[in-house]
Amino acid sequence: MTNVAAIPLIKPSDARSWSLCARRVWLDNKGNLDLSPVTDEFEQLIKQLGHEQEDAVFQHLASTIDVHTATSQADTKRLITEGVQAIYQAQLVDEENGFTGYPDFLIRNENGEYQPADAKLSLSEEKKGIQVQLGFYRRMLGSQLPAIVFLGDGNKALIGDEANVVTNQFITEMRELLACDEEPAVRYGHSKCRACPYYTHCKPAFEAKEELSLLYGVQGRAALGLEAEGISTITQLASADPITIPDIPYLKGSENKRRAVLQARSYLTGKVFQTTPVSLPTGQWVHFDIEDNPLTGNGQKHVYLWGFLVPGYSDNSFEHVWTDTEADDQQGWLQFLARIEEYRQRYPELVLAHYSQHERTTIRTYAKRYGMKNNETVLYLLGYESPLFDMQKPVLDSLVLPLQGYGLKDICKHKDLVNIQWEDDDSGSQWSIVQFNRFIAETDPKIKETLKSDILGYNRNDVIATRRLEEWLRSNFMGQL
Ligand code: SF4
Repeated sequence: MTNVAAIPLIKPSDARSWSLCARRVWLDNKGNLDLSPVTDEFEQLIKQLGHEQEDAVFQHLASTIDVHTATSQADTKRLITEGVQAIYQAQLVDEENGFTGYPDFLIRNENGEYQPADAKLSLSEEKKGIQVQLGFYRRMLGSQLPAIVFLGDGNKALIGDEANVVTNQFITEMRELLACDEEPAVRYGHSKCRACPYYTHCKPAFEAKEELSLLYGVQGRAALGLEAEGISTITQLASADPITIPDIPYLKGSENKRRAVLQARSYLTGKVFQTTPVSLPTGQWVHFDIEDNPLTGNGQKHVYLWGFLVPGYSDNSFEHVWTDTEADDQQGWLQFLARIEEYRQRYPELVLAHYSQHERTTIRTYAKRYGMKNNETVLYLLGYESPLFDMQKPVLDSLVLPLQGYGLKDICKHKDLVNIQWEDDDSGSQWSIVQFNRFIAETDPKIKETLKSDILGYNRNDVIATRRLEEWLRSNFMGQL
């Protein structure tokens, strides 16, 4: 059911949904969906940290200038007329243009003009959503002054006329969207849709029409090109001969087209297709996975857990390096390097197996952070003879699976594929970030220990999963075709 009666005011807080999906922002404003409430602990943590940061900015401003809290639109008008130095939680409305907006602060300069300002957890003012929000406030105030962003790392950034283009685009598109009585037609996108509160609303309709963008590797723009060639459903793509499909934008080359057709067949039948033999390195495999916290005060991710599953490959074969706080970041990194040297001695033909590029990229980031690019262990890890082996590569190179995403959990949890379940079904990388932030804030040693034990259990599950994936690949796909 949708409510199409009134055209809502355009508000800058729509910018985030708008930047993700036109239908999402339409549903936010005009949908009247009876969705079961979802408790997203990660979103709640982000909100809590956002409030804390806003409060810290408020305290800082209030220690130097007179800050008044606005209680309504009329109160905001009154405070502006009085010319107070700063207004907290300002409430702006422009009925004529159909705008409303609540900047965190309005700060008066020496010429008596007000500058909008927002506190953001982000470390950069360049994100589209932030540019639109602050650009929108400037437009509402008719201000030539740049807007201020108090960033998550304590720095201050300014947003001026450079945000006008994207702000105007936002306003134009929002006007069109909000004037429309029907849900806008959009394409499926696995990562954006899976994380969206409207997933259960949208997904069945995509499935019913066999929307092509449901397929891994077929983006919305490729789906458009396929439709222009008369291929509009997954069934039609599955029965196509890839050689007869011309190159289209975002789906070019015989291998990509062949994979798209196989992906359609796999989607419909649940079958696994192997396109090339799987080749895995020989040696002594140590499975490796890290957990990091992006919500630090300095803007640098802190790897609080470097986890390993060593030969023996039982629960008892789990080893790790752990640090309690970001203050111990360097110490954890050095312990990690020492652990690698230990493994190098223990396992002369070491293979350090991980899933996706994240571990390699993180090692590179840490080497740069601590000026250790020429460190002997770093050179060993990142050089030509590197023991690092990304297990996602043979999967993506050789297999077409009945999946919409090729993440570790997608493959491992599938009952017809690796079929291994995590001890805590709700766990995931965002789950572990929430638990670690609870660990940091917790003062009771017993609860703290339980939280740490849960996070270690989750990471142990991850490295056991990559081990099971290795076994599954070896049993089913080595050298076969
Ligand atoms: S589920 Fe996907 S298509 Fe539907 S509103 Fe969310 S992001 Fe848009």
